[in-house]
Amino acid sequence: WVAASFTKQQFPLVRLSSDSAAPRTPHFDVIVIGGGHAGTEAATAAARCGSRTLLLTHRVDTIGQMSCNPSFGGIGKGHLMREVDALDGLCSRICDQSGVHYKVLNRRKGPAVWGLRAQIDRKLYKQNMQKEILNTPLLTVQEGAVEDLILTEPEPEHTGKCRVSGVVLVDGSTVYAESVILTTGTFLRGMIVIGLEMHPAGRLGDQPSIGLAQTLEKLGFVVGRLKTGTPPRIAKDSINFSILNKQTPDNPSVPFSFTNETVWIKPEDQLPCYLTYTNPRVDEIVLNNLHLNSHVKETTRGPRYCPSIESKVLRFPNRLHQVWLEPEGMDSDLIYPQGLSMTLPTELQEKMITCIRGLEKAKVIQPGYGVQYDYLDPRQITPSLETHLVQRLFFAGQINGTTGYEEAAAQGVIAGINASLRVSRKPPFVVSRTEGYIGVLIDDLTTLGTSEPYRMFTSRVEFRLSLRPDNADIRLTLRGYKDAGCVSQQRYERACWMKSSLEEGISVLKSIEFSSSKWKNLIPEVSISTSRSLPVRALDVLKYEEVDMDSLAKAVPEPLKKYTKCRELAERLKIEATYESVLFHQLQEIKGVQQDEALQLPKDIDYLTIRDVSLSHEVREKLHFSRPQTIGAASRIPGVTPAAIINLLRFVKTTQ
Ligand code: FAD
Repeated sequence: WVAASFTKQQFPLVRLSSDSAAPRTPHFDVIVIGGGHAGTEAATAAARCGSRTLLLTHRVDTIGQMSCNPSFGGIGKGHLMREVDALDGLCSRICDQSGVHYKVLNRRKGPAVWGLRAQIDRKLYKQNMQKEILNTPLLTVQEGAVEDLILTEPEPEHTGKCRVSGVVLVDGSTVYAESVILTTGTFLRGMIVIGLEMHPAGRLGDQPSIGLAQTLEKLGFVVGRLKTGTPPRIAKDSINFSILNKQTPDNPSVPFSFTNETVWIKPEDQLPCYLTYTNPRVDEIVLNNLHLNSHVKETTRGPRYCPSIESKVLRFPNRLHQVWLEPEGMDSDLIYPQGLSMTLPTELQEKMITCIRGLEKAKVIQPGYGVQYDYLDPRQITPSLETHLVQRLFFAGQINGTTGYEEAAAQGVIAGINASLRVSRKPPFVVSRTEGYIGVLIDDLTTLGTSEPYRMFTSRVEFRLSLRPDNADIRLTLRGYKDAGCVSQQRYERACWMKSSLEEGISVLKSIEFSSSKWKNLIPEVSISTSRSLPVRALDVLKYEEVDMDSLAKAVPEPLKKYTKCRELAERLKIEATYESVLFHQLQEIKGVQQDEALQLPKDIDYLTIRDVSLSHEVREKLHFSRPQTIGAASRIPGVTPAAIINLLRFVKTTQ
């Protein structure tokens, strides 16, 4: 069906020339380069915002490809999925149509830090994503490798900066647009490594992107180098699962998308995962063969939180490491050994794997490999993901130094929205640290930069009790509709209904008060610990672990029964009750941060030469490089001292 619905467009071949009379067709509002996790979200977000969008990517049949693990979500990443969904993004909905094993991580902790996660059928995800992309109104999909950018004179209000106005493809043809988004992942000067062999590739089977990398460097972007890797894939029927620990999925499944009450496959029909461990023999093979493993010796930084087995053996010797055996899909013959990313020569990979319990007869179908690639220092982009150097040029995804599908998708949505808003000359859509994990991700990247692949975690988030997976729609859907135009009317109305129902429900729960002894009679299973004389609110009773909205409504049917009719509402009221007292204090702190964020620094300030503000040379250089947009962002740049912030604050107040 992909071939049937995809009509490959042939654009007229137009050579790039200095002749201003050269034909300027075709012309789009937004061009997105790359059909990975950032690119698919960026392209569809721009189209949802009303922009005529072109997605240019190497191959249509790799759109939505999961380059590494067959899973989405996890701790911190599940929050990003919910936020992408709240902005009407794709990945959460597509996962719910393709997941084969749902499990919420961190269940023992509070719902604020639960990690929604699922194993995904790789083939189905790609099919469903392609179907969605190819049927998105205002979105055209075109195969092609982009080699260069077309730049024009700066806009009058931004003197000095050039502006992107289109792209040049490898065959020399050109396409013009008002905004361009680069989401090229691991492809910029990508180099694949197995053992001592290295060859240019963006990922296994895909060409690298070299011309574009050279263009970016020539334009003056600061480029760094990072690495990552993937494990070998193992034949399912060669594994002895019967001796391994089995992990069954959750029942019921918790969907990623707010639009879904259930997922496409019932929990009882979902697939299990299995757990095994490495052993000293694995360490021995790694250590004896380091001379045959150039990826490990490279000084380039790899993902700290998803390290290769070689890095784990070197960093934590004599430990047993977990290996999760995860299904690649409902009808897939392959198993993905999570935790065994490696770049040993192919013949040694099978030797190592067959030392592991349950894998004694394992057959390696595809070897593990590493990839080294260029990334761009993300301090060169603004919180709307537009570059400081070139107007209307946006970067999103792994190109900004992140790792992971969810981090890429989150940036993709924001870049797509902002590229579109830029076309219609509307103010940028920025998510702050107080509003979402997306805000934390982008603020960390744009103010702190990164020297290793950046991954999202709940621990990076100051206001994690407020920024929960359950309330991402209240935080972002309403803004997505009003400020960005990327959310449908239907979703907006549903989020408005949920917000007002929660507010009403909480105020009703606060208004119902009985003595603790009366509560004891009404709900015998809960023992309320408070002074007998003080009345206790229904909201406080709901905080107890053994109480939910159903038991509360049984005790006090009127007026509580109506809040149990919608399951999601009942569950969310319970979560709101759990966090009610702590959230009060957190809201005060959030207000303080929001005040700092409201203090905008002038866009055209030249930190290197300005005389009206007293700043050290070091601070000037840091501000010049990162170009923070607010006092809040400036204060988070390492090395920008409190004294410098006070001076900046005075300066801002005198210029306002
Ligand atoms: P990608 O998904 O890489 O998509 C880039 C797209 O851009 C591709 O479609 C490509 O064809 C296209 N493209 C590139 N250049 C051009 C051009 N010039 N013209 C047209 N199209 C172009 N993440 C983890 O979280 N954990 C891991 O363990 C992990 N391991 C990985 C191992 C490997 C080998 C690889 C390759 C990736 C790994 N990742 C891992 C990263 C994860 O795959 C990425 O974070 C995610 O896919 C990034 O999404 P993206 O959209 O930025 O880029």
